[in-house]
Parts: sequence; structure tokens; C-alpha cells
Amino acid sequence: MKYFCSSCQRTFPVSSRIFRCSCGGFLKVETRSFFSQRDLEGQDHSIWRYREAFGLPEEVQPVSLGEGRTPIVRRRFDGADLAFKLDFLQPSGSFKDRGASVLLSLAKGLGVSHLVEDSSGNAGAAVSAYAAAAGIRCTVYVPDYTPEGKLVQMKLYGSEVVKVPGKRQEANRAAMEAAEKSYYASHLWNPYFIMGLQSAAFEIWEQYEGILPPRVVVPVGGGGFLEGLYEGFAALRKAGYAKKVPRFIGVQAEKCPPIHRAFQEGLPEHREMEVETTVAEGIAVQRPPRGKAVLQALRESGGRTVGVTEEEILCAERALFSMGLFAEPTSASALAGWRKLPQEEKEGSLVVLTGNGLKETQKLSNLFLGAS
Ligand SMILES: [Zn+2]
Repeated sequence: MKYFCSSCQRTFPVSSRIFRCSCGGFLKVETRSFFSQRDLEGQDHSIWRYREAFGLPEEVQPVSLGEGRTPIVRRRFDGADLAFKLDFLQPSGSFKDRGASVLLSLAKGLGVSHLVEDSSGNAGAAVSAYAAAAGIRCTVYVPDYTPEGKLVQMKLYGSEVVKVPGKRQEANRAAMEAAEKSYYASHLWNPYFIMGLQSAAFEIWEQYEGILPPRVVVPVGGGGFLEGLYEGFAALRKAGYAKKVPRFIGVQAEKCPPIHRAFQEGLPEHREMEVETTVAEGIAVQRPPRGKAVLQALRESGGRTVGVTEEEILCAERALFSMGLFAEPTSASALAGWRKLPQEEKEGSLVVLTGNGLKETQKLSNLFLGAS
């Protein structure tokens, strides 16, 4: 198994424990095999039924908490039929468990005893959960303004949490420095994280019995989930299991829209921009390291981006609650984006709900019930 660099094409063995190329480019995993439909018969229903597609060395044993196989529910809303993929129903409460399960399995297989990550939210919780399951020591670097409530999950899973003064980028730098002597389990950089996220595409394909929805609507911060879904659908097409890849609608908050702006301006990569805080904090990523791949996936799928305001996000969040769906505001941004599509594009879309609202009850209480 090898990594190859997305910029200079250099290759590295998977055992090398690197997270990016020496040229600074992000890595991809070279895969040679894919699951056969026969592989799926009688397999368990976690993401590990698709193991062949993850490109892991054979000796790697799964570190699993039963992640995956999240429900799809169909609803009629705003005069159109749509479906929701309830990916907030995962062991640690977000879609990131798909990536963490595969990445931590590799780390354990490589004999890693300590790993670092930087995140103030779902990724930190997911990596902490799977580090606990794998018996690997974990340190998470977070910006010092991160509310205590968001750190509870990481701490209770047993991770060491280090607060770093300054902007989000400072926590990133601290983790990268620490990774020199450790292993960087980055949800933004590590390609095996993306390999795990592909499992959502395989599930959707099975749940739709091979006839994929015309559009998939995804909230975009780092864009890893969109990239993983796209790669997953593209692999299904390549294997002859699906006729075409759905069009992707990538939704960003107008307060932090680097990918959305780059898409509108026809740029191959996002440019440096000032951003503001948004209620959809899960997608507040100022410098998405894999932005180029995300923009490419959006364009190759024939899709596009949508920007949503804070008010539109909150309105969509209310709509989710009214349907009995308790997802976090970041997830609601996807529904807000869907609502802004022309009516004919709304029809039959699949909207991915990424994180559980139960993680943010204090914030939701302040937003919707008034400060108490
Ligand atoms: Zn390179």
C-alpha cells in the first residue's frame, strides 16, 4: 500500500507515518482493490463491510464501535420530496466516526502509541473515542476560546486536552509541531480519514438499491466529507456498480465561505480571506488544506456551492426540529442550502445531516429558548 502526493505524484509507503508530502501537497491512498457485491453478503453492517475499498494493509485489524449504516428518511418539504441521511447517529455523534475508525485502525496496525489531533469539535470527539477503543494515548489541541462543554466528550474518553491561545490556526500549528514526535491523526490531512468517509457513499448506494439520488447536499468546512462521498461514488462508477455520480451541492456559511467564493470565481483553489464566527461552527474552516480536491469534486460532479446566512441556518434548524430531527446547526446549514435551490433541483435530493444536536444543548437553548 502506498500514498501518492496530489501535487508532485511522489509515492511513500503507508508505514512512513507522514501526513503530507515533503512538497506540502496532500496525500491520497493508492488503491488496487474494491469490494465485490459477493463480499457484502452476510457481512456485518458497520463500515467494515466495505473494508476492501479502504486500501488498508492486510494485517490491520478494525478498531470499530459499530459505526455506519445510518438511516435514510424521506420527507416532503417546501413542495418537494427529499431524503435525509442521518449521519449524526454514530457512536460519538457525528459522521467523523467513519474516518476515525479507519484512521485509528491503521495507527494501531502501525504500532502508534500516542497520537495528536487539533479540533474543537466533532473530529476531536471522534478521534478521542476511537483512540480509547484502540488503547492509544491521544492529545487534542484546541483553541483556548473553545467552550468547556465541547471538551467534555474528549476528556471523558480519556484524551489530554491542550488549550492553545490565539486563532484556530494556532492550535493547528501546535498539533503539527507535536506530531513531529508523535502521529498526526488529522481529520483534515490524513488520507485514511477520507477513505473511511467514502463508506457513506457505499451505504447510500446500497440503501438506494443502486439508483443514486440526483443531488447530494453536504455542509462544507474542510470539505473532507464532500471529497470522501465523491471519491466513494466515483469508485462505485469505476467498478460498474453505479451509472453516474450524483451532483454535489456544497453548502457554506456566508460568514466563512472560502470554498464557495473560489467556486463562484472559477478559481482552482481558495484564496486567503478574513472570516467571521458562525453558528455553524463545524464548517468554520478558514484555510481548508484539501480545498483544491473539494473544488475539483464539486466541478467534476456537475454540482455547485451555495452560501447561507445565519438567519437561514437558524430557520432550517427550526424546520429540522419540527420534523423530529435533532441535528446541530452545522447540519442545518445543508437544509438551508437545499431550500435555496430552484424547485426542480430540490426534487429527490439527499441532504446529509452530519452532527448530533445533543452535543450542543446549551448553545441551542440560548439560541432558541432564550438565555437562561
Ligand atoms: Zn508532493
